[in-house]
Amino acid sequence: MGIEYEIRDGALVWIKNPVTGVISYVVDVRGKSFAFTLSAHEHPGPEAPELTDEEVRRARSVCPFCPGNEAQTTPELFRLSREQVPGWTGDPSRDAQGWVIRVINNLFPRIPDQLTGGRNESYIVIEDPRHFIDCPRSIGDLLFTGILGEEHFARVLATDALVMRRAMDNPSVRSVVVRKNQGRESGASQPHLHQQIIGSPEPLPAILAEARAEREHPGLWSEMLDLFDRLGLIIDSTYGVVTYASPIGAFPRSYDVVMPEFRGLLVELEPAALRKFARGLYRILRILGPLPLDYEIHQGEGLPLHAHINARLFPYSNVAGTLNIPNTLLERAAAIRKALARG
Ligand SMILES: [Zn+2]
Ligand SMILES: [Zn+2]
Repeated sequence: MGIEYEIRDGALVWIKNPVTGVISYVVDVRGKSFAFTLSAHEHPGPEAPELTDEEVRRARSVCPFCPGNEAQTTPELFRLSREQVPGWTGDPSRDAQGWVIRVINNLFPRIPDQLTGGRNESYIVIEDPRHFIDCPRSIGDLLFTGILGEEHFARVLATDALVMRRAMDNPSVRSVVVRKNQGRESGASQPHLHQQIIGSPEPLPAILAEARAEREHPGLWSEMLDLFDRLGLIIDSTYGVVTYASPIGAFPRSYDVVMPEFRGLLVELEPAALRKFARGLYRILRILGPLPLDYEIHQGEGLPLHAHINARLFPYSNVAGTLNIPNTLLERAAAIRKALARG
C-alpha cells in the first residue's frame, strides 16, 4: 500500500503524494473568486489592433533566439533545417536563415561546469524560428508549443534525445532532465519558444525521490494508474502511453504522461515509441495552448519514462505541504478526453 487517500460518498476527499508527502485536498472552487488568476488582463481582445511591423521588428531585434541574431548566442551546436522538420507550419519566405530547430549551450549553466568535467552541460533547444504567433496583438502573443503540430514536436523530442546523447558522452554526466517553461508566469526568462536540457553529475533530486518511493513501495506506479483509472482521471491510454489528470501534481492543474512498461531513457526509445511519447505530451500541450505552463521529462533510476505538465492558470498554492485541487478535476479530465476524441 504505497498511496494514501480517502474516498467518501464515492468522491476523493484527499490524497497524499507518495514522493513528496504533500496532501491534496479536493475543494469546491466554484464560488471562489480568483482576483489574481493569470490570463485576461494581458491579452487584448480580438478587436485590438495588430502590432505594427515596426513593433514586431523591434521585439525580434532584441531577441537572441530570433533568426538573424545567431551571433548573439553561445556557439551553435547543431541545427535542424526545414527539410529535417516535416510538418513545419511557418512561412519560409519570412526569414532567410533556414533553420527550424537550433541547439546551443545555456549561457548560464544550471549546474556549475566544474562539476561536469569542465564542460557546460546545460543546453537550450530553440523550438522554432518564429517569435510571435500570426497577427500578434500584443508583445505577449508569443508562439507556443501547442501550435507547432504533432510532427514538429516529435522532432523537438528527437532533438532532445540527440542532445542527451551528447551530454551522456561526458563521463561525468549521470542524469539528464528536459525542462520547459512557457510564459513569464511560469518562470521563462526568454520569451522565444525554447526548452532547457540539463545534464547532472548526480541523479537529479526529484528523480531520486521518485526512485526511492518506488523502491519502498514496489508497484507504486501501477497502483497509482489503477487508482486514477477508478477515479476517472485517465485522459488517454493508447500505444503504451498513459495520460492522466494528476491529483498529486505540484500545481492544482497537473497532468502526467507515462510509459508504464518502459523503464529507460529517452535515448533508448525506438523512434516509433519516441513519437508515441511525444504524441501523448503534445496532445496535452495543444489543449493547454498559450497558457503559462511548465513540463519536465523524468527518466532513469529504474523509473518508467514520464513527463509532468503543470498548467499555471492559478498562482502556486502549496501551503505548508498542502495543496487544494478543484473538484472540477474530473469534469476537466472528461472535457479533455472529449476534446482529444474530436481531434
Ligand atoms: Zn525571438
Ligand atoms: Zn517525475
